[in-house]
Amino acid sequence: MSPRSDLTRLSLSEARTLLRERRLAPRELVEAHIEAMAALRRLNAFITETPERALQMAAESEERLRRGEARPLEGLPIAVKDLFCTAGVRTTAASRILENFVPPYESTVTRKLWEAGAVLLGKTNLDEFAMGSANVTSHFGPVTNPWTLPADPRPRVPGGSSGGSAAAVAAGLCLGATGTDTGGSIRQPASFCGIVGLKPTYGRCSRFGIVAFASSLDQAGPMARSVADCALLLEAMAGFDPHDSTSGDVPVEPWSQRLEEGVRGLRIGLPREYRVAGMPEEIETLWLRGARWLEEQGAEVREISLPHTRYALPTYYIIAPAEASSNLARYDGMRFGLRVEGKDLTDTYERTRGEGFGKEVRRRILIGTYALSAGYYDAYYLKALKVRRRIREDFEAAFGEVDAILTPTAPSPAFRQGEKEDDPVAMYLNDVFTVPASLAGLPAISVPAGLSREELPLGLQVIGRAWDETTVLRVARALEQAAGGPWIPHLLREAS
Ligand code: GLN
Repeated sequence: MSPRSDLTRLSLSEARTLLRERRLAPRELVEAHIEAMAALRRLNAFITETPERALQMAAESEERLRRGEARPLEGLPIAVKDLFCTAGVRTTAASRILENFVPPYESTVTRKLWEAGAVLLGKTNLDEFAMGSANVTSHFGPVTNPWTLPADPRPRVPGGSSGGSAAAVAAGLCLGATGTDTGGSIRQPASFCGIVGLKPTYGRCSRFGIVAFASSLDQAGPMARSVADCALLLEAMAGFDPHDSTSGDVPVEPWSQRLEEGVRGLRIGLPREYRVAGMPEEIETLWLRGARWLEEQGAEVREISLPHTRYALPTYYIIAPAEASSNLARYDGMRFGLRVEGKDLTDTYERTRGEGFGKEVRRRILIGTYALSAGYYDAYYLKALKVRRRIREDFEAAFGEVDAILTPTAPSPAFRQGEKEDDPVAMYLNDVFTVPASLAGLPAISVPAGLSREELPLGLQVIGRAWDETTVLRVARALEQAAGGPWIPHLLREAS
């Protein structure tokens, strides 16, 4: 097979078939991706590239394929968000405080991926500690969206926090990637980069070995160029893990085999409250078009109400920083990570944390510490927990009437680097459609559904019942089929 650029445009499923039929060698596939990564370093999608390890893993896959012992993802090169601990491979969380941290152990999700035969190309860039919506807070610099318009000199953001993974998948630097989603960090960058991103049900993928941001919300998930590829990756990533006390003991299903079941007879809800003020017309049009596509394929679409939606963002921005302030207390320069010597213990703590954490992370620690402090705990944190319960109950009531919910993924297409950076609230507003499902722990996917007037990708979100990834993926597949595609970024169109 050649030329090599064709190899980096294959879907994971196509590459899998070619490898199994021995029409393509794992080494050839991996080398094509290593070359693509080198050619597009200006995107800054990777913090650490691991070409030697990739070639070594490809050699093992070669051997397995030869012996007819291929595992489900045998020889398929993927990228891993640099928030998953990888034994022997630096894991930074895009923070200065972990700049030189090499974990002695492997996260459960990545271990499962390697056990399924996947090949590690490298660790992708992200917002520092996964806090952000634009991939601009990384200590290693911002990531550029491959959809940056040729006529517009200012680069577009890939979304965040899994922006490196999204950009790498969209630009053909890997066949798929892992992301994590606390309030939208898989779905929003997927929407901005024109790819598919799935946040599974909370507890579906183990959090063991993932650098913690907000433990009651963090969830790992797959990012890829098709719904089928996400399903394949999820089959390898998901499953009960005794090392994570919130991991769900729920069977992993053969999602990739159930995608074509269609949407006939499914009831789809459009939440009235998601028609937010100031939403661009093209987003609303896309949303209604998506609803029509599902109707045309036999689904029944109806309006529903999620009355507490408008409290979701403020609730999230109390709970997430509160948990972050507690989780990030471990970075004190004593056991691992950066240590800046001070004149005494307290001074060492202060200098280490002051110099190790970036501005957004420090802001979140301050907000979280405030919300948890005596006197404010009841007024903010406890109140937020109560509202979170209401939000979850809204969804429970809605799922009495419908089988899945359709919404836009983000209120805008990818914006320019530098925009919204001085205004944290404007940045937080990006999460308006993704945060409610996170607070309720529900599975939700973003699928590319069309292009904006400026020709930037726009995604639609499908939210499902807890543990019902099957329906979420089926609906997503129906949308994907109706939307057409393929979705090739400007950058790659220029190159070919
Ligand atoms: N943008 C949201 C935040 O900054 C979500 C991030 C995430 O999901 N990790 O918190």
